[in-house]
Amino acid sequence: MDLTQLTTADWHARAGRIRYETRHFVDGRFVDSVRGGSFTVVNPATGTPLCEVSAGGADDIDLAVAAAKRAFAARVWSRKAPRERTAVLTAFSRLIEENAERFALLDTLCMGKPIRDMLSADVPAAALNFAYFGELIDKIDGSVTPTAADAFHYILREPLGVVGCIVPWNYPLLMAAWKVAPALAAGNSVVLKPAEQSPLSGLLMAELFVEAGGPPGVFNVVNGLGETAGAALALHGDVAKIAFTGSTEVGKLMLVAAGQSNMKRVSLECGGKTPQIFLADLPDLDVAVTYAINGIFGNMGEVCNAGSRLLIDRPIAGPFMERFIERGKTAYVPGDPLDPATNLGPLVTASHRSRVMSYIARGKAEGARLEFGGGAPDRPGCFVNPTLFSGVNNGMTIAREEIFGPVAAAIEVDGLAEAVAVANDSIYGLAASVWTRDLNVALKTVRDLEAGVIWVNCFDHGDMTQPFGGYKQSGQGRDKCLESLLSYTQTKSAWINLA
Ligand code: NAD
Repeated sequence: MDLTQLTTADWHARAGRIRYETRHFVDGRFVDSVRGGSFTVVNPATGTPLCEVSAGGADDIDLAVAAAKRAFAARVWSRKAPRERTAVLTAFSRLIEENAERFALLDTLCMGKPIRDMLSADVPAAALNFAYFGELIDKIDGSVTPTAADAFHYILREPLGVVGCIVPWNYPLLMAAWKVAPALAAGNSVVLKPAEQSPLSGLLMAELFVEAGGPPGVFNVVNGLGETAGAALALHGDVAKIAFTGSTEVGKLMLVAAGQSNMKRVSLECGGKTPQIFLADLPDLDVAVTYAINGIFGNMGEVCNAGSRLLIDRPIAGPFMERFIERGKTAYVPGDPLDPATNLGPLVTASHRSRVMSYIARGKAEGARLEFGGGAPDRPGCFVNPTLFSGVNNGMTIAREEIFGPVAAAIEVDGLAEAVAVANDSIYGLAASVWTRDLNVALKTVRDLEAGVIWVNCFDHGDMTQPFGGYKQSGQGRDKCLESLLSYTQTKSAWINLA
């Protein structure tokens, strides 16, 4: 069935009928918390409770890690023939696509993402992750190195063991897929701790992995709060790696936990304050403005690489701002996320909305000019209107801190050198873009920008081959791409004496 043909009424009817799990998934089955207890997930579009979810703690993490460890020790997954593992991940990828309706509803109900974004972006991208990493399984070779005649030396690439994946709420299904897919493809067992705001799609994922032929115990999920379930996973002595996506603040705690426990590996995809540089010679002002608008207001601005700092070359600042204001005001309209026409849902929670509103107040107090937005629409739920500040300087709080909402800060600059200096003047370095007609300028700017992902004359383009991750306090490690898969492996060197 073509889900894009469903109406708002259809989606509401389906939302009313959908059945989903709220317990943990351990060793191939759903289980309650060892000590009982639950937490409430609230639908941010209405402000009403959606469901009660089992609250996991250290005991539940222990059980899940033990199941993952047993599965790894039994080699039911890591030593399966590579093509058989590929077949499981391929089937899993297909099941994700076939369950698009359920995944779309679960994430939309939990965190307010427009259903059309789930269908056009999150679900297909998650399925693609499993297909891509599944296909890579038998393409990772070890090697034989040159030696003297009296020795034979080869290098094996092996999985790490149990991988703990801790993910955020802004792309619940997709951020889990970015971690779980390469971890499984490399032969590891996984314990996933979804964000407490959006735990439901991770549970469905784990269930479908078993349906696709994945052995029980290889992919486990424990729900719970960060300070309890998340912290227990990060500190666990039998976890070989934590793959984390979330805030820079919590990312630093992952490093501390690794040091306090077993020196586990840690990969971190954290916050950002992405600069978009619009130089006076950019190829097409209208196209650039369209990308600028989508780059900050898409997904409610709840995007790690949201283009939140617009660095505009002074000669084009007038026309750029005119067009951004004229079109940006109406391009994203707050609405029911179950309406297929809606492109701006609510923010994830009431407390996150308060946080975003406090940044808007700070912007005004520090002297930035509010061009539009700045408030909330007159409807229930955690909505914030798309907001643009002009006259911003890079020292203001709204230019320095990650707001994680639909708030753009426009900063005028005098030419390329100042643009690059301002772009790099940040603790973050996740992504950046530069718009110019001049190839030499583009190539030099790519080198000069301190960020892990750079776009030239576009924004947010890419595919599975593109390493995604940050410089500086945006993190360490890369998602998607071959490098990601390798980061879930370790090398073993075998030196054989032939003398
Ligand atoms: P968060 O750091 O609050 O939470 C992320 C995850 O960590 C959640 O599962 C949470 O339960 C868990 N957690 C919280 N405290 C913990 C603790 N003490 N110990 C262990 N786990 C803990 O982040 P968030 O608010 O869910 O997500 C937003 C952040 O994620 C933003 O900063 C955004 O930039 C970042 N993000 C980064 C990327 C990227 O690829 N770089 C992608 C998406 C989101």
